[in-house]
Amino acid sequence: MTRTVHLSSPDVGPLEEAYLIAALRSGWVAPAGPDLEAFEREIASRVGTRGAVAVSSGTAALHLALLGVGVGPGDVVLVPTLTFVATANAVRYTGARPAFVDCDPRTGNVNVPLVAELLRRLRARGERVGAVVPVDMFGSCADYTALLPLCAEAGVPVVEDAAEALGATHHGRAAGSFGRAGVLSFNGNKIMTTSGGGMLVSDDLPLLARARHLATQAREPTLHYEHRETGYNYRLSNLLAALGRAQLVRLDGMIGRRRQLRDRYAKLFAPVPGVELVGAEDGASNCWLTVIRVRPDRAGWRAAELAAHLREQDIETRPVWNPMHRQPAYADSESLLTGAADDLFAEGLTLPSGSALTERQIAAVLGAIDDFLTVRTGGSSA
Ligand SMILES: *Cc1c(COP(=O)(O)O)cnc(C)c1O
Repeated sequence: MTRTVHLSSPDVGPLEEAYLIAALRSGWVAPAGPDLEAFEREIASRVGTRGAVAVSSGTAALHLALLGVGVGPGDVVLVPTLTFVATANAVRYTGARPAFVDCDPRTGNVNVPLVAELLRRLRARGERVGAVVPVDMFGSCADYTALLPLCAEAGVPVVEDAAEALGATHHGRAAGSFGRAGVLSFNGNKIMTTSGGGMLVSDDLPLLARARHLATQAREPTLHYEHRETGYNYRLSNLLAALGRAQLVRLDGMIGRRRQLRDRYAKLFAPVPGVELVGAEDGASNCWLTVIRVRPDRAGWRAAELAAHLREQDIETRPVWNPMHRQPAYADSESLLTGAADDLFAEGLTLPSGSALTERQIAAVLGAIDDFLTVRTGGSSA
């Protein structure tokens, strides 16, 4: 173990070890196997969808989801500008092009009235909109109460990028279940991990069957390797699925630890002027990452200064996602902006949030923040 306190490290222990060794000893090392099927069933049951397809990454799941709802060359797909690049890249893989929409400044989730406005503009120009891809930012669901009727009325399918949000809910319904298809990630930094992996979830069984086919090189069910179209090698292995099953057993406990940590950050920052937590405070988030926003005019200091102070103590922080409309790779893309994502990028800070942090590490982080605040606000913040 290194001295550095990381943002969101994998949280694995004896249970993961036992599941992984059992899978290894079962002989199911060649990619497919019973843990893979069980993992798909268990995730579908957790999310509340009729089925699931386990794949090698969340990005692969996004690609298959977009293909599954019929996105293809010439289409435009609406994507939040505040997201990880995978959301936009997957759109490009299909030959479609992304158009970016700004976020709600309070939650970082997509600004729904702007989605409506951009849909109107694109359709007025005669563009075919292939999908809308809301992202459940930092583990809080987008505003599906407003978004879903809008997309239904426009006849545009929704692909939910719930890569960060497994275990979150919106009005009691699970993240991942809101679109025609939903996407989860089990990358090493996510709420639970298979070291690398993802899942496509949906109620649409033909969509899932087709995704499974495409994910296995579009191989026809013959002995002699027949392929009628171009597929991908996107399957998750049975061994990694076993790791995922152990993580899923522990998911609620891991979410609970992240929530406790967020509550402690909230308490620490509550009396500090100019600092607010990003995201709805409705208890429905999976608390994947705790993000603060620092308004320098009111706080008297900048998020980057706190980041520098913490870095000196070997405590990792990060800015929020650098918005897609600022990325050189997407410089030619259309966007509808208010400046909210730019502000969050400039003033946001992602704090260590992992469920594997020890009490000692947490105390070190909270202590270091408190020291900083004491100096900057001229008195103890506690
Ligand atoms: C992590 C992430 C992905 C990609 O998942 P991978 O498993 O790393 O491919 C996609 N979208 C968002 C919003 C993410 O945070």
